Amino acid sequence: MCFFLTHPLRAINCFECLLCGGMATYGTTICEPCKRELPRIHHACPTCAQPLAVSLSCPACQRHLPPFYNCRAIFHYQGVIRHLIHRLKYHNDLAAAKLLGRLMADALGSHHPEMPECLVPVPLHPARLRQRGYNQVVEMGRAISHELNLPMELKLVHRLWPTESQQKLSAVARRLNVRDAFRARNKPQYHHIALLDDVMTTGATATELAHCLRKAGVRRVELWVCARATNP
Ligand SMILES: [Zn+2]
Ligand SMILES: [Zn+2]
Repeated sequence: MCFFLTHPLRAINCFECLLCGGMATYGTTICEPCKRELPRIHHACPTCAQPLAVSLSCPACQRHLPPFYNCRAIFHYQGVIRHLIHRLKYHNDLAAAKLLGRLMADALGSHHPEMPECLVPVPLHPARLRQRGYNQVVEMGRAISHELNLPMELKLVHRLWPTESQQKLSAVARRLNVRDAFRARNKPQYHHIALLDDVMTTGATATELAHCLRKAGVRRVELWVCARATNP
């Protein structure tokens, strides 16, 4: 079991690694050995980030391009990354949000020729937001926004109803569950944005949101995802 699961108070100490409790690299909350062992995605479809043996377009994207321009997913949804996201989502561990956001910013900033104008976290419905008290994706976004000096836009798009959790649904049911679930709030003044999400599985939510933003007039919507789960 991960150290931070059994010693949550240690997350308060900014010089301690959230994963093993050892000495973290200066200014971070992770040590070098833990960082080296993170389940990073090395090869993936450049459009939808589906992990593959080589970085070539996956069969689904060859058949039909998604409405988002491309997707950058940093980690596989497994091991310590899965634990950190779980801690963030269900156990109020905001230190995990900061760590995940910084790790994402490190990876995104070093290989990004053309930065978007702003970062748009996938919105929660206000009822879900009240229940949880925070949007875990916004919390991750704060660290990315700070590290990459990129404004975060929270009012561009909103969720019209509290959709059922996608976790146990089939790919088709996921698409139906989020169909028309979002509305872009204003005529956006942006041409190029990055949608941010914590986990992507089939991409149903991202696809629906990207459709909504493209329809509202955003020309280029890219997708930044912390962890990519393998399609069910
Ligand atoms: Zn460590
Ligand atoms: Zn693909």
